Amino acid sequence: MASVCEVGGISPFFQVRQTEFGGRGCFSIVQLKKGAVVLEANDSVGACIAHEFRKEVCHSCFSYRNGANMKFKLKYADIAHLLKPGVKISEKAFNGAGLWFCSESCKLEYLTQPHIVELIECYDVLLRTLKIMQKKTADQKQEPDPQVMSAEIIDRAWLEINNSWIPKVERTKPTKRLNELPFIAEEEYNCARFVARTLFSLKHLDPLSKTMTTFWTLQSNELSKISRFPVLLNFQIAVFKSLYVLLPEIIRKDLSTELFRHIMGSEYGNSFGIWEEQKVPENREFLGYSVFPRASYFNHSCDPNITKSRVGRTMLFTLNRDVPKDEPLCIDYSSLLDQPVVQRRQLLRENWFFDCLCGRCILELQTIH
Ligand SMILES: [Zn+2]
Ligand SMILES: [Zn+2]
Repeated sequence: MASVCEVGGISPFFQVRQTEFGGRGCFSIVQLKKGAVVLEANDSVGACIAHEFRKEVCHSCFSYRNGANMKFKLKYADIAHLLKPGVKISEKAFNGAGLWFCSESCKLEYLTQPHIVELIECYDVLLRTLKIMQKKTADQKQEPDPQVMSAEIIDRAWLEINNSWIPKVERTKPTKRLNELPFIAEEEYNCARFVARTLFSLKHLDPLSKTMTTFWTLQSNELSKISRFPVLLNFQIAVFKSLYVLLPEIIRKDLSTELFRHIMGSEYGNSFGIWEEQKVPENREFLGYSVFPRASYFNHSCDPNITKSRVGRTMLFTLNRDVPKDEPLCIDYSSLLDQPVVQRRQLLRENWFFDCLCGRCILELQTIH
């Protein structure tokens, strides 16, 4: 992936530069006041509501009402006027695409997204398949999950997909391709929805937009994540195969193993949790996750000068103190700032794959050595 030393144009308040530790980070380019919103991100490329909350979260504004189901489900009549060539949704087979809304107006707003019917078709196909799978048992669990992992094992597995599985599917008649579908359960289904949303966003985004150009520069944590959880390799392959077999051509034509690996690899460590709004961290439900490429350059600090918050689909990054020019702007990745330094650093290492060397960690480490 392209590597850039400086990225401007994301915000008038900061610039992305190399840090002294080697990676990139955001630095203020002017003196800033406490309360300033340095970034307002509403341009997620991929988002996913956790499966257990699928009926309890509005898919438009992400509101959540203490576990009550959302009352407005998507119906065929809502989308009939949006159908267009290349999109095939039959009234009889339509399941509602797994989309629920808090109000009629949220539903209508969701439907105003350009070309959204293409994504609705993808979601509905995936949902229909999940429902069929749920009637079966996972008896076709093929490959045993590897115990050790390396870059070579991952590359080899994907090479096999490129060189053998994809050509085989392409030789198969479209009506027979369903035979190549692996077993998928709720986790694979939900991940497939996330990737479908990302493919849809990438298809329609302006390639020169900041959102798109920063998406391509997101760091992939594929090896770190899969090394920690080796089962993820077969999991990802099952998601890829499901998408390849099921997605309508209009979206699937952009799906390659390289793009899929970048989407998944950059999601690990770069996605933002969709948390319940306006609640203290300890009492919030984790409703899903979302990727905002423009917001992905903020580094972590255990004493962050930026506070994250969510208003509907928008993430706000607000300064919690005055900041001079050329200062790093950092957020908290973890919601673990109350933990003692050793545990905190361990959790950051395990989940975000880095050793925190923020000012607070250095200070607190000195006091225990
Ligand atoms: Zn809503
Ligand atoms: Zn730290």
